[in-house]
Amino acid sequence: MRPWEYNIRKVVPYTPGEQPKEAGVIKLNTNENPYPPSPGVVEKKENLEQLRLYSDPTAGELVRALAGYHGLDEDQVFVGVGSDDVLAMSFLTFFNSDKPILFPDITYSFYDVWADLFRIPYETRPLDTSFELNPSDYEAGNGGVIFPNPNAPTGLAAGLDVVRDVLEHNRDVIVIIDEAYIDFGGESALTLLQDYENLLVVRTFSKSRSLAGLRIGYAMGSTRLIKALNDVKYSYNSYTMNTPSIVLGVESVKDEAYFRDTIARVVRTREWFEQELTRLGFSYPRSSANFVFATHESVPAKEIFEAAKKEKIYVRYFDKPRIDNYLRITIGTDEDMRTLVSFLGKII
Ligand SMILES: *Cc1c(COP(=O)(O)O)cnc(C)c1O
Repeated sequence: MRPWEYNIRKVVPYTPGEQPKEAGVIKLNTNENPYPPSPGVVEKKENLEQLRLYSDPTAGELVRALAGYHGLDEDQVFVGVGSDDVLAMSFLTFFNSDKPILFPDITYSFYDVWADLFRIPYETRPLDTSFELNPSDYEAGNGGVIFPNPNAPTGLAAGLDVVRDVLEHNRDVIVIIDEAYIDFGGESALTLLQDYENLLVVRTFSKSRSLAGLRIGYAMGSTRLIKALNDVKYSYNSYTMNTPSIVLGVESVKDEAYFRDTIARVVRTREWFEQELTRLGFSYPRSSANFVFATHESVPAKEIFEAAKKEKIYVRYFDKPRIDNYLRITIGTDEDMRTLVSFLGKII
């Protein structure tokens, strides 16, 4: 190493799913929504002249829209550049203990990356053999707790009783519930906000709102937590949200009917797809998300993954302990899924 390299922050970065550039791909590898965003978003004519000005550092319009939508006060909502930004900011803000933060062994693979980046000690707690989270693994003596609900990449939702149990045993640290997929199933922890000042619920526009490319995420919690997040944000970059994202994000929130309809379509396709998987000899934890985490009784996941890719069908494969015989398959359009099912029928 060169002497100056000793002072470089060394991290092993998160690897996002592939964004293939070739045409004619069936893309079921990064949990995007197969349907376009609300027509209100698509048709909105932006006044590009206003890009001359800095964006609103408070992203006030969007914060107000979200607070109104969820029946919260404006000072209970924090927005950021995708929930990845909100989560990273939350790690930096809330996880400053010498004790390890806790999260499941099988979970969103960005958590350990942020922990390493920010030098936060962490420990994982194994999910049981059915990928269920056991709340007694998360009892006191830690520096904070985070898990997604529904979990990623399993798609399995924990009941509100489990979330409440974790909160009951963690009154003195921050508990973050990452609800990236909650619109597709499961019970939201939002109803617990009034009981737990230390609870932060994080959501995204990337999946259920078909706006992955706009990069909008948000957190909801007590005014104390939101103030702490804002203090860190304003110590880092005041203008995280760009003007088009603020304006178009508001349009999405306005269109509840389209939002519900899109989600219902994805859920219907998921239910059909799960039946087809069963017929083909796959098993999977029952999904409450916009993807299914499936394993086959005889054909290795990696083989299916590679064969699918040759057919320009992209799904996600994680070469990691306990899950290296699983595929995470995003729910696409009915047509996408029929093509996939007929491919799977052939290879199996
Ligand atoms: C997709 C995802 C995110 C990040 O979403 P953004 O696009 O950054 O909003 C966060 N957490 C989980 C569990 C996810 O699956």
